[in-house]
Amino acid sequence: MSNTEMFTSLGISPKVVDYSEGIISELRERFEELDRVAEYNQLKIIKAMQDNRVSAACFAGTTGYGHDDMGRDTLENVYASVFHTDAAIVRGQITCGTHALAIALSANLLPGDEMLSPVGRPYDTLEEVIGIRECPCSLKEMGVTYREVDLLPDGTFDYDAIKAAINEKTKLIEIQRSKGYAQRPTFSVSQIGELIKFVKGVKPDVIVMVDNCYGEFVETIEPSDVGADMVVGSLIKNPGGGLAPIGGYICGRQDIIDRCFYRLTAPGIGSDVGASLDLNTKLYQGLFMSPTVVAGAIKGAIFAANMYERLGFKVLPNGSESRHDIIQSIELGSPERMLAFCRGVQAAAPVDSYVTPVASPIPGYDDEVVMAAGAFVQGSSIELSADGPIRPPYAIYFQGGLTWSHAKLGIMMSLQKMLDDGLVELD
Ligand SMILES: *Cc1c(COP(=O)(O)O)cnc(C)c1O
Repeated sequence: MSNTEMFTSLGISPKVVDYSEGIISELRERFEELDRVAEYNQLKIIKAMQDNRVSAACFAGTTGYGHDDMGRDTLENVYASVFHTDAAIVRGQITCGTHALAIALSANLLPGDEMLSPVGRPYDTLEEVIGIRECPCSLKEMGVTYREVDLLPDGTFDYDAIKAAINEKTKLIEIQRSKGYAQRPTFSVSQIGELIKFVKGVKPDVIVMVDNCYGEFVETIEPSDVGADMVVGSLIKNPGGGLAPIGGYICGRQDIIDRCFYRLTAPGIGSDVGASLDLNTKLYQGLFMSPTVVAGAIKGAIFAANMYERLGFKVLPNGSESRHDIIQSIELGSPERMLAFCRGVQAAAPVDSYVTPVASPIPGYDDEVVMAAGAFVQGSSIELSADGPIRPPYAIYFQGGLTWSHAKLGIMMSLQKMLDDGLVELD
């Protein structure tokens, strides 16, 4: 059987195969550049593992208190080496990205302190953490105030307003690298570096924290290479490489990480406890795989951008601009197209391919959300997934794919489902 016949056997029409291959044939040079970035990051990770003398003994887990968990402690040193920071927390006890961010914030903000977001409204789930939406145990309830400065209409930093917003109470500045669910550009690491330089110029002792979710290993440098005091992310996104079944990380300056450990476990106990159970091997292997997985996911995002741009939809980033995270948003303009897109991604999955995604409320999010994912790790968004809040402009956020071939199939299937329902026309 030819590849086209294999696609047909999965439900993709020859017309969609031809249309897709035509687009992909024009992307070869960009894909080669992605492979070069993946190679660089692969070497960076191997070097960090060698420098920290990773051995088979690191894969043995601990139970109970988890004192002297050599594999866990070595993995944290590996992360610190990769991100070029003093120290790192890499734990399965961190349940998700929001949890990692909440630990990082609440460990370093005290009553009377103020937090500033100079890049507009942060990720949806942080609204309750901060107290923008009332919630017990929010930073607001603890007496921490919050300010934000919107981006300028062209998506750049409003330096004058940022300078005016920094005051004697400003203790921590949070910069979200990825656009998340917003319709704004994702920042490059060098743009983040410029912003950090500016805010440190206004207030040298302010702590700069970067929400690094979806950004890891997309470039050859990380925000911690350009002055961030702390970078935070989820292991069921990029750095877990699809193999980590749970976890989050925080890498940063020693004193800041010490406080995060006290917040994660208990004051006085800090990093000493936290059994790794059977996690170590998966977290090491996932980090090792991450650069190539991320490259495959970005290939998928670029393919999706080019396909839907050609079909006449507004896509962010557009088909030709450079990439700083793995997320692709496509303004589909109607709930029906969002649902059809998700049906396609779901139908292309290795797991749960027979289920139909529907919109529903999700804790932490304000609007109903539709999600498509047929993942080995539940909710993992480094695996091929599509989601979005059902609100204008009806943008779907598409990300992940453990392999480029799977990402490609998912995007082709999304188009197939829209064609089947007469929601788009091929030119
Ligand atoms: C995914 C994400 C989060 C939250 O992570 P969860 O694991 O879903 O809690 C925070 N910020 C950004 C930018 C994200 O993409």
